[in-house]
Amino acid sequence: MDCLFCKIIAGEIPSTKVYEDDMVYAFNDINPVAPVHILIIPKKHISSAAEISSENSAVISHIFEVAAKLAKEKELDNGFRIVTNCGEDAGQSVHHLHFHLIGGRFLGLKMVEE
Ligand code: AMP
Ligand code: ZN
Repeated sequence: MDCLFCKIIAGEIPSTKVYEDDMVYAFNDINPVAPVHILIIPKKHISSAAEISSENSAVISHIFEVAAKLAKEKELDNGFRIVTNCGEDAGQSVHHLHFHLIGGRFLGLKMVEE
C-alpha cells in the first residue's frame, strides 16, 4: 500500500521515534506547530477517524493512554491538545489515522478558523 505512515512504521522512511509498542507508533511531526508536536498512529492501517468501528476501536483507547503517558514525559503539565483531522474539510493530508499531541506553549482558544 502506498501510505507514508505505513512506510514510516516499516522503517522505509526515517522518523524521530518517541514511543513504540505492538499496537502504536509515535514520532515527532516534521513540521511542528508547538515545542511538542507528536503524531501517534495505529500500526494497523486505518485511513481516518471515519473508519473507526467496533472491529478496530481498541487501539483508540490505547492511543489515548499513550498520549497521557507522553504528555507526562514531556512535562505538558500546563495542558495540551489532541487533534485528529478527518477528510477534506478538516485538511487531512495523510490518509493513515493519526492523533496530533501538541503542547508546550499556549495554543489559543479557537478550535477552528472563522
Ligand atoms: P494532517 O494534516 O492532520 O493529515 O497531518 C499530517 C501531519 O503529518 C502534518 O502535521 C505533517 O507535518 C506531518 N508529516 C508529513 N510527513 C511527515 C513525515 N515524513 N514525518 C513526520 N511528520 C510528517
Ligand atoms: Zn498506512
